[in-house]
Amino acid sequence: MSARARLRLCALYPELMNIYADRGNLIFLERRCAWRGIELRYERRTIGEPLEGERYDIIYIGGGQDRDQRLCAEDLLAHKAAGLHAALAQGAVLLAVCGGYQLLGRSYEISPGDELPGVGIFGARTVRSAKRLIGNIAIEVQPQALGGLLGGAGQLSRGGRLLAGFENHAGRTLLDDGQAPLGRVVRGHGNDGASGFEGAVREGAIGTYLHGPLLPKNAWLADLLIARALRIDPRELQALTDDLERAAHACALRAAGVRAWV
Ligand code: GLN
Repeated sequence: MSARARLRLCALYPELMNIYADRGNLIFLERRCAWRGIELRYERRTIGEPLEGERYDIIYIGGGQDRDQRLCAEDLLAHKAAGLHAALAQGAVLLAVCGGYQLLGRSYEISPGDELPGVGIFGARTVRSAKRLIGNIAIEVQPQALGGLLGGAGQLSRGGRLLAGFENHAGRTLLDDGQAPLGRVVRGHGNDGASGFEGAVREGAIGTYLHGPLLPKNAWLADLLIARALRIDPRELQALTDDLERAAHACALRAAGVRAWV
């Protein structure tokens, strides 16, 4: 890999869609790139600004309150949807957390008759319920779910890989037939508290309910995103020491009641 590799990241609505320290995902990506001599250029696009999808290798949207999601929903359709689709079509990666994930499905119904339109990246719709789904969560990602991201590298260990985080959402996300989940719930609630599914994956796009922030607790996923954004095999990335990252991962799994197996 070239020592002068460069990636461009766009954060959508970072001032509105950033709860439970979701911003930490961006800092973590930037650090892991910098440690490897990869320049990660950060840009942001908010209400009223166009998203020029072809400019970016990584697009990110974090979680948000219903109130802020309402502000973003119309804007996503008006100013960002075409750019999001264009970015994915040219091989960019997209990470959407919780409220951001919900807005990238087909719709988010806040109450009967009050439905926010979604961008339709994921074949899913979300319906709000009175009872929130809250707590530490662990999921097992199926390697085939990440096939598009792995690029055939088969880098996941047997049995899939675990992701750990924290969830807090009133929305229940229901996947369409044929829409691949990100993984299966090991502990916690996931998309809807009933199906056993968590998140959604399409091409380079990942939607998930895991906050925490997600990436510092699951460094392997951060590296997968970086590799895919660079259009290289994840095994080509320079290895990092990762003692702290491994400890954070094990700690988050323990909080969810799961013992790490690697
Ligand atoms: N407002 C959404 C819900 O409650 C998303 C919350 C979040 O991003 N944590 O379902």
